This record gives sequence, structure tokens and C-alpha cells, in this order.
Amino acid sequence: MRARIPLIHGPTPIVRSKALSSMLGVELYIKRDDTTGGAEAGNKLRKLEFLLGDAIDRRATCVITCGGTQSNHARATAIAAAGLGLRCILFLRMGDAEGRPEHIGNMLLDRLVGAEIRPTTAQEYRDRTRIMTDAAHALEDAGERPYLIQEGGSNGLGALGYVEAMRETRLQLDHGIAGGGIAFDVIAHACGSGGTAAGTVLGAGESDVAAQVWSFAVSDNRHHFEQIIARIIDEARALDPSLTREARLVVDDGAKGPAYAVMSEEQRAFLVRVARTSGILLDPSYTGKAMFGLAQAVARGAIPRGARVLFLHTGGLPGLLAQGPNFEGVL
Ligand SMILES: *Cc1c(COP(=O)(O)O)cnc(C)c1O
Repeated sequence: MRARIPLIHGPTPIVRSKALSSMLGVELYIKRDDTTGGAEAGNKLRKLEFLLGDAIDRRATCVITCGGTQSNHARATAIAAAGLGLRCILFLRMGDAEGRPEHIGNMLLDRLVGAEIRPTTAQEYRDRTRIMTDAAHALEDAGERPYLIQEGGSNGLGALGYVEAMRETRLQLDHGIAGGGIAFDVIAHACGSGGTAAGTVLGAGESDVAAQVWSFAVSDNRHHFEQIIARIIDEARALDPSLTREARLVVDDGAKGPAYAVMSEEQRAFLVRVARTSGILLDPSYTGKAMFGLAQAVARGAIPRGARVLFLHTGGLPGLLAQGPNFEGVL
């Protein structure tokens, strides 16, 4: 058994949204992984149960990770690390369109829990693995025991968090939630670093939760993510060879918008419409683009009308709160 520490408040609810079902034209259920916790909530916390479990197992004193200035992963890691008494160092890519390097949104929370932020230029960030490894060596020399977590917590170990999420969903189906034991036709979610996709593909296959997983890319193209997800799937299987089955993966890069964390006008208006129709708050970097992509896939007939769809709401509220000025024109 792998070391896993309890961080999430689960099982997270699965809710049927009548309003969004009619807006999108599918039978839409939402798994509220935006409620995996308090301020630390979101999909990253499921990966961190395994990653920080491993860190504690190895007697780490300090965790190192990276992301954009408004990284949800960096914030979840910082808060969870503070709760475990671990020092946390974050390499954050400055100059992103998503937010100024100010104490707002995720970065405010990072600072509140005492994470050490090391600002990184976009150029330096390309070498993030080397930069983090160098920092780890320097910390070792200073007597710390550092534990390095890759971008988004996306490796084979982190992906096991979504294998677990699918086991949790299977139990919910068996208890009669979301129409009884029948599997979903499609699981839809936002894809940023590939770990959620890899774990969901393996878990949905293992636990018979859905035939297909639609991963909506929020930045890079389909080919890029297909390769990354395949690698993470291999890593997860090396850790747990019993994961032989997989759901069919569809990477859709048609809704990635103008740039990472930047929405088109149409996408922004969609996010506002979803909020006003359903009370479901999506974020501009991930979930807003994924649900927009889902709506488009149904509209063009790639996902059949009336399909049973489970949308993974992966969180991201602090990032939305950091983008207030971008919404002035549409409110
Ligand atoms: C990180 C993140 C994702 C993407 O998950 P990956 O495992 O990195 O692909 C989706 N939604 C939100 C809100 C996230 O923070």
C-alpha cells in the first residue's frame, strides 16, 4: 500500500444541473471536486494525498514545486504543506497574462501560509526541472530534506489520486446517485498538465465509470497532451500494474482560447451565462474553457445530444477572483 495522507473531504458531491443540461443539450452531472477542501480545494488535493504522503514517508522537511503566478497547484501545495509543518518553496512564472505578481487570488493565499516564492521569468521557467533540482541540492547542503513535486503534481504517483476519484464515483453510482449503477457516456474535464486525465482514464476503465474521457486542453495542442498523458499512464501502471483497463481518451484542443489563462470574449460571456443560469462558478483558466469546449463538442455532434456526461469541476475559484478587471466589459 502506498503512503497516502487524508487531505480531501470526500466523497465530493455529484449534482445534476437541470439548467445546464438544457443549456448544453446533454444530461449533465457535475462532480464537485471544487469542494475537496476549504481554501486548498480543487483537483490538486487528490494528487497531493499521494505526493505529500510520499514526502512524509521519505521524512521530507521541505517541498518544492512550480507553476504560473495564479497556480492552483502551487496554492494547494502551499496550504497543505503548512498544515503538515513542511517548508514550501514555489517557483512561479511571472509575467503571465493571468495576473500581476501581486498579493491577489492564489498568490495571496501562498503568501498567507508562508510559502517562499521564487519569481521565475518565462525563459527560466522552461528549465523548471533543472532549476528545482538545483534548489533541492542547495537545500540538501543546508541540511534540509527537500521533496520535489513536478508541475501540476502530474506524475504517475499524483495520477493515482484520480484513480481513487473514479473508485469513489463508482461507489456513488452503486448507491443510486446520478441515476443508479449505469456508467456515464462521457467524463469531461480541463487538462493543463495531464495528471488528472491520466488518472481518470485509468480509473474510469478500472471502475467502469465512463466509456470515454474528454480532456479539454487549456494551452498546448492535442499531440502534446496525448504524449504527456500516455507517459503519465505508463508511470502510474509501473506503480500499480493492476491498472490494465482504460477508458477511451479524446483530447480536444478546440477550446484552449487565445492563450493560457486568457479567454476569448465568447468564452468569457459563456462563463458569465453559466454562472447566472446555474450558480456554478467556473474559472477562466481551466473549468470555463472545458465546459465551453463541451458545449461546442455537443453542438457539432461529436458528443451525442442527450448523452450522460459527468463534468469534473476541478476548482480554480481563487484564479477567477484574481481576474476581476477582465470581466468589466461583460458584467
Ligand atoms: C490544474 C487544474 C486543472 C488541470 O489538471 P491537470 O491535472 O493539471 O491537467 C484543471 N482545473 C483546475 C482548476 C486546475 O487547477
